[in-house]
Amino acid sequence: MPTVETVRGPIDTADMGQTLMHEHVFVLSTEHVQNFGEGGWWDEDERVADAVQKLNDLKALGIDTIVDPTVWGLGRYIPRVQRVAEQTDLNIIVATGLYTYDEIPHQYEHRGPGLLLDLPRDPMVDDFTRDIRDGIAGTGVKAAFLKCVVEAKGLTPGVERTLRACAATHRATGAPITVHTSVANQAGRMVLQVFRDEGVDLTKVVIGHAGDSNDLDYLSELADAGCLLGMDRFGLDIYNPTASRVDTIVALAERGYADRMVLAHDASCYIDYFPGVEAQAAKEQIAPNWNFTHISKDVLPMLREKGVTEEQLRQMLVDTPRRYFE
Ligand SMILES: [Zn+2]
Repeated sequence: MPTVETVRGPIDTADMGQTLMHEHVFVLSTEHVQNFGEGGWWDEDERVADAVQKLNDLKALGIDTIVDPTVWGLGRYIPRVQRVAEQTDLNIIVATGLYTYDEIPHQYEHRGPGLLLDLPRDPMVDDFTRDIRDGIAGTGVKAAFLKCVVEAKGLTPGVERTLRACAATHRATGAPITVHTSVANQAGRMVLQVFRDEGVDLTKVVIGHAGDSNDLDYLSELADAGCLLGMDRFGLDIYNPTASRVDTIVALAERGYADRMVLAHDASCYIDYFPGVEAQAAKEQIAPNWNFTHISKDVLPMLREKGVTEEQLRQMLVDTPRRYFE
């Protein structure tokens, strides 16, 4: 039986159940919290308990697994996620990779082939591979997929180097990849360009945030290349309102792409872009549906109403996530 690594260890992919393919437990910069959060807006025990509650509520709605693409740049810290995972039945799948819109961290800047410290291979590949094969920073928790970004600035040298490092790790380990993309510049096309060049298996690639677009030609092109479309920001109406996101899924399902779409909110139990209780409350007012429950409570009924079948929903929530990790 094929298995997939979760925070609590490997499970059969058949046991993944209904899966949201892009959610964060914590988006929380360690450097930020150490300098400005502790003794102030950050309360570790309270936030862990809150995360457990939110994930248990999600499990009660029938979701069995979340796929968490929090990597360096978004504040990945696995011991905190382990504390949460111990207290919920929901499966959490974690990632390795790098979240940057432009430059790479200084820790990689001068190390690599042809750089100041001339190495035979990009050290990113070694770090990502170790996370997948041996586990993350001595926790024993293994990453099950790779995460990188192409944002509004497009393929800057740092972004391209990160994509190529993820591609090399994918070739060496077989781990699938999720790319955060911007739709304004149709960055998915840039992902295709680099990944084709690198020989990536495009059926193992999620074009994250594709659902911010309603351009059916663009989305069909990505799906025809084999990629999965991340319809994964439900509740972030500032990028695309729920009604439009739903209509786009319906249109793509009618065109035969139901097996190329995955669902999520890109929500988090806590995100330090909105630090403190007041900022979190303001966030909840500005984006009231940006939480883990919007799909189960509102979006699935809307999709059913518009003719999306149970079989198609099962593809988006169960079969395609499973296939991605096999
Ligand atoms: Zn995200």
